[in-house]
Amino acid sequence: MRGTVDGLILRETAVGESDKLLTVLTAEYGRISISAKGVRNIKNKNISLCRLFTYGNFEYYEKNGMRWLAGGSVNDSFFGINSDIEGFALASYAVDIAREITGEGVPAEDILRMTLNTLYAIEKKIRPLEVIKGVYELFAAFSSGFAPDISACRECGARTSETMFLDVMNGSMLCQECMSKRRAFQLSEERTDEYLTASILFPMKPSVAAAVRYVAEASPKRIFSFELKEREDVSDFSRLGEVYLQNHLERGFDTLEFFKTVSAAPDIKG
Ligand SMILES: [Zn+2]
Repeated sequence: MRGTVDGLILRETAVGESDKLLTVLTAEYGRISISAKGVRNIKNKNISLCRLFTYGNFEYYEKNGMRWLAGGSVNDSFFGINSDIEGFALASYAVDIAREITGEGVPAEDILRMTLNTLYAIEKKIRPLEVIKGVYELFAAFSSGFAPDISACRECGARTSETMFLDVMNGSMLCQECMSKRRAFQLSEERTDEYLTASILFPMKPSVAAAVRYVAEASPKRIFSFELKEREDVSDFSRLGEVYLQNHLERGFDTLEFFKTVSAAPDIKG
């Protein structure tokens, strides 16, 4: 049986002398594997179609329960990503997350669209990379069913306070006053509230809380269109995305460590 599908390459694995096994994210079938013969040979006509981050139209045939590449064309190579190590590291992390949150045979239209928008944002540098990172991490957590209720404090209903606390595992929020009351209660009773001790409570300034709310509600097309003015807010937002996603997926990513390493490196351009 033959078929064609549009998809984004999330991973390429070298096989044998000159072949690749591609992990491809598609809207219709979610994450699929396509075997591509001979595509590491520089004379192969499909060489540019079979690169990491390529969004292409893949023609394949099915044999022995596998998809084999027959041909195809490139829709967007996101080639500019490769010119910048930080952008490359972040894009690698994003496609790792995409691989983690998608399944074989589970349609993934929204995740594909959002991942393409994210690669575009990285390539064109439409926002600081830390902002793009935080947005994608939050999106990934929310679309995996871990959307928090952050409309108001869960205890008293306050919409805002100087610092709001995101209860990461419980997906809810506490205002400063309710947080202080809880702490005072713990101290006066000389006991520890087991529930609160086990929680991860992430302090957020109102500007950061507003950004998280925005990401939760925005369409993929508009999801990067918000402002974080202070440098500190950008770092907090990025850190929050990371903590939130990692605690829900219960795993870390080597590509995230790679991104942090290259982001922290001194800027040799001065
Ligand atoms: Zn409250």
